[in-house]
Amino acid sequence: MLELPVQDQDTSPRPKRPEWLKVRLPMGENYRQVRNIVDEFKLHTICQSGNCPNMGECWGAGTATFMILGNVCTRSCSFCAVKTGRPNEYDTDEPRRVAEAIWLMRVKHAVITSVNRDELKDRGAEIWYQTVRAVKERSPETTIETLIPDVKSSWDALERMISAGQEVVSHNIETVPSLYRKVRPQAKYERSLEQIKRTSAYGKRTKTGLMVGLGESPEEVYQVIDDLVAHNCDILTIGQYLQPTKMHIEVAEFIHPDLFAHYKEIGLQRGLKYVESGPLVRSSYHAEKHVF
Ligand code: SF4
Repeated sequence: MLELPVQDQDTSPRPKRPEWLKVRLPMGENYRQVRNIVDEFKLHTICQSGNCPNMGECWGAGTATFMILGNVCTRSCSFCAVKTGRPNEYDTDEPRRVAEAIWLMRVKHAVITSVNRDELKDRGAEIWYQTVRAVKERSPETTIETLIPDVKSSWDALERMISAGQEVVSHNIETVPSLYRKVRPQAKYERSLEQIKRTSAYGKRTKTGLMVGLGESPEEVYQVIDDLVAHNCDILTIGQYLQPTKMHIEVAEFIHPDLFAHYKEIGLQRGLKYVESGPLVRSSYHAEKHVF
């Protein structure tokens, strides 16, 4: 097992990663097949754009998380490797291609995400709706999780995004409220909680993801857990933040696996239905287990 490759301008040494953050390098037939499908259908994945440490494992298992609405985001969260800028892609053929790719991959459970398109009046809701419908028509047996962006209180857009037949709707809370200004400056903690609550009110299974190791205290994590339960969130994933490049916010701490196990226990004790917590956990990691 080898350390993850890094890209940076600055040569100063990074903090050494502990043993528990060793990842499997991408290889094998499944991995090649996924790669070919992604390239052939000209699709984006958060696996690639987000520098996800689990790409080797997931693609090796024949699954990937497709990213729709282009690969340029209107936001600049300091932890995220996705390109920031003025998006120009609005591809009405993308839903068909995503559906074809998922059908070819024969996955039991598909996860779809997108960049933030704050410049679009409907926040990209129509492409979201058409994509989920196309996947459901092409692969009726495949369950779908949609990891949707912050719709900035455009609740009509939210309704359109989540009424296409998906089984799980996730929206990441990402970090604790005291770190929002540094980590997620264009988002609001309360607004994301409200979005989760409204999604639940539509009868959807709700899910969110939290990164740790950015300088939060365990008490702040407990408070986030209580806030999520109070806003009818069903599923929580908790994973270690990893710095994609030197341009991104630094890792404040490598959280020990014992503390991850403790957070899982607290989450279940305090009312969450399912908690996936571990150093390499990401929101779509083992997502097929979150359909229940
Ligand atoms: S909104 Fe999402 S894709 Fe955009 S920068 Fe933030 S985390 Fe990355």
